Formats: sequence, C-alpha cells, structure tokens
Amino acid sequence: MDIQSATWTEVRDAETNLAMVPIGSTEQHGPHAALGTDTLNAETVAETAADRLDDPVAVSPAVSVGVAEEHRQFSGTLWTSESTFRSYVRDIVESLAFHGFDRVVLVNGHGGNVAALREVAGTITRHDDAYAVPFTWFEAVGEDAPPMGHGGALETSLLQHANPDAVREDRLDDAAAEGTRRWGNWKGKVNLAFDSAEFTENGVVGDPREASADLGEDLLDAASEALVDLLETVAEHDTERPPRK
Ligand SMILES: [Zn+2]
Repeated sequence: MDIQSATWTEVRDAETNLAMVPIGSTEQHGPHAALGTDTLNAETVAETAADRLDDPVAVSPAVSVGVAEEHRQFSGTLWTSESTFRSYVRDIVESLAFHGFDRVVLVNGHGGNVAALREVAGTITRHDDAYAVPFTWFEAVGEDAPPMGHGGALETSLLQHANPDAVREDRLDDAAAEGTRRWGNWKGKVNLAFDSAEFTENGVVGDPREASADLGEDLLDAASEALVDLLETVAEHDTERPPRK
C-alpha cells in the first residue's frame, strides 16, 4: 500500500503493522545518471518487494535528501547533517507507528546514509514505540554482482531496468573514461579523502559501460527477494527489549 496514493480511510483499514520507508539521496552520479539515482533505486526495490510480499505493507513517501556532503563539489548535490537526517527519519517512523505501523524497514539506496540509519534505527527501537531496521539494497545483491562503486555498473543497471530515462546512454563511454575505479584515497586502511572530488574527476567510481537492463533485472530480483525475506522476519520478530541484568 502506497501511502501517497491511498486515502486516509484505506490506511486506517489496512490490516498490517509493517511499513517501509524508501530512503535515497540527491547527489551527483556522474555525467550519465540522474541526481535522484539513489532515491529512484530505493523506491524501485521497496515497491517491488511490496508487490511480491504476500501480506500488505505500507510504503511511505521517500526521503530524497540524505547524508551526501561528500559530493558537494558537484552541482545539484543536496545534503543534510547526520543529526537532521536522523531526527527526520525518526519522526517519520514515529508517525507511522502512531497509525499502527510499528515494524518498519528503512529501505536505503545510499552508502552515505548507512551509519546514520543504523544509529537511528537503534534509537527508535530502544526509546520509541516502534521497531526499525535498515536494509541497503546493494548489500543484498550477491557475490557475483559488480562492485558498488558510484554511478558504476550496479546503480546504472538498476536504473536502465526500472527508470531508463534517468540514464544518458550516450555519455557512458566518457563517464567511464574520466571516472576512477576505486572509492577513496587510501593509506593502508585509512581513507585520506572526505570528498569524492578528491579521487574522481567526473564523480564516477566503477565502469558504467558494464551496466545493462538485464543485469538490473537480476539485481532487482536479488535485492527484492532479500527484502521480502527480511519483511517476513521483521513481521515475526520478538521486539520486546530484554530486561536489565
Ligand atoms: Zn548512488
């Protein structure tokens, strides 16, 4: 059940306590992929899982600006601080729980959101009237998938399958040639870089020429199946907090 297109009476009558919040970002994804890539991909995975799940699940509107200051040198990139982002996500989950959707999966499409989502899910679960857990789609696509990169084969493939208008196909060669292949600027296991502009000229990490709509379909199958599995587990999960020892 998509909350944006439902009426309030339909939401009131929905027989489920499960919800998903798609969470993305508005940030550069190279010269070939839309700034909304992470939001579009998170929505695609959440909507597909909602369709495939036997039971109903409420899907909130997406959070489309996240923790992305690392891409600030590239035009159009928008960001919030981590604390604002965590507060905003927490409030959304609180309002879902108020309506009875108190088991919530945060369906994430952006690497920069991962740490903040883990932290806020823990805060919600410990202190609020809801259980929340984050799920990041590209961590659930299996070992054979291309490396994550940024605007590389993985993200570009999912767009080509589900949102082909978000990819400028005629720029893939340039995107790959002027990009880089490895995230970060490493000294041993320490990443010296804080902004992506320190290690990529056009914002790309990886090789978007290896992307295809077919690969995108396979990635979506894998990610949405893992998400369905997680939703079924969350629906049954014992959410009681353990007592103090
Ligand atoms: Zn991305």
